[in-house]
Amino acid sequence: MTAHSAWLTCMAGCDVRLDVTSAVYRCPRCQGLLDVVHDEHALRDRSAAAWMKLFDDRYKRTQWPYGSGVWGKLEWVMPMIPDDLIVSMDEGGTNLFWAERYARELGLSDLWVKLCGNSHTGSFKDLGMTVLVSVVRLALRRGLKVKAIACASTGDTSAALAAYGAAADLPVVVLLPRGKVSTAQLVQPLANGAKVLALDTDFDGCMEIVQRLAEEGIVYLANSMNPLRIEGQKTVGVEIVQQFDWQVPDWIIIPGGNLGNAYALYAGFRMMKQLGLISRYPRLCVAQAESANPLYRAYAERRKTLDPITAKATLATAIQIGNPVSFPRAVRALDEMNGVVEQASEEELAEAAARADRTGMYTCPHTAVALAALEKLVARGDIQRHQRTVVVSTASGLKFTEFKVGYHERALPGLSSARANAPVVLPPDYGKVVDAIVA
Ligand SMILES: *Cc1c(COP(=O)(O)O)cnc(C)c1O
Ligand SMILES: [Zn+2]
Repeated sequence: MTAHSAWLTCMAGCDVRLDVTSAVYRCPRCQGLLDVVHDEHALRDRSAAAWMKLFDDRYKRTQWPYGSGVWGKLEWVMPMIPDDLIVSMDEGGTNLFWAERYARELGLSDLWVKLCGNSHTGSFKDLGMTVLVSVVRLALRRGLKVKAIACASTGDTSAALAAYGAAADLPVVVLLPRGKVSTAQLVQPLANGAKVLALDTDFDGCMEIVQRLAEEGIVYLANSMNPLRIEGQKTVGVEIVQQFDWQVPDWIIIPGGNLGNAYALYAGFRMMKQLGLISRYPRLCVAQAESANPLYRAYAERRKTLDPITAKATLATAIQIGNPVSFPRAVRALDEMNGVVEQASEEELAEAAARADRTGMYTCPHTAVALAALEKLVARGDIQRHQRTVVVSTASGLKFTEFKVGYHERALPGLSSARANAPVVLPPDYGKVVDAIVA
């Protein structure tokens, strides 16, 4: 057994140390967010070169559980979990798409899209959920008593939790804002046998209720307020660098809602820097929908405190969040990575998605928010032609059929649908078909 270990501590610096299996989600002293800390001394038992070799040797191989992009980096993620308790569905290891044609249109030469949605449940949420559900198994073995693992969700968290819960035969409850998630996202937890509670509220309303259920000990909380998720999600930063043969890109753009993932990205880079695998950070851009932009507002006003808003409806439903739990985490990531925050209107995100799709992608609306932010950073000269830029694509476009269909049928109110491409309906007549092709 390895000597590597990790525990929970207070992000604000209180002197607390909690076991990763304790069902505690806030600092007992200051009520602030918790973070996972690793025994850095133990991790220094390997050189930077040895870590890179180890991760490369395991990458996408079949030896359980190391073929997973998350568990291949197990010592950095959650080293105390016995292999037989790990609940993995081969997450991570997603392709890094060279967006050559789209980049050329923008005047860039080195643009990549990290397709985190090419995953078991179709979003990056799998990266964190594999860790959380594995730790819950360990906690149950040590006597944790809860009715279910539960989350509030804008769709993708519940899909991931339901799948990993089903794989581990653990009861799952999900709280969704009624009518505010896509059909695919709603049906995923139903199919996996979760108890789905559709509440007449928004995500923030669901979040309040699930936090209370967790505080009362009725459920174990699976939202990214729980730092265990961040440990899995942080592998995306490591994996991007690994896919570039351990070279650091210049910019990374990531869409943000509850803001856990932006921090996770930073946490991966922080670990690589601490252990000497890299010597600098890329610059970070967190991209928000204009309808749900509390981080953008704080950034524009040079404020480090959250002023919660009521998020308005947006096509980017997974980031329709006005009171992001991980706000302080995102502020730290932005500070450390010389970061910026951008926003995209509904028109801008819809056109960015359509434009990218025309070059062969199939973008979800959240990825489109990041692409729209990219277009603004390029137009402003913040990102320059030769700079290596990675856009984190957070979900598969296939989960957002309503968005795609609405756009191409010009049925999205208030939007121009400038690149709409509707089917040509014809009788089964050879001449008419020829006309339609050659015209
Ligand atoms: C969850 C999610 C996000 C936002 O991630 P946060 O950690 O909440 O900022 C973005 N895109 C998709 C598709 C998501 O499912
Ligand atoms: Zn504290």
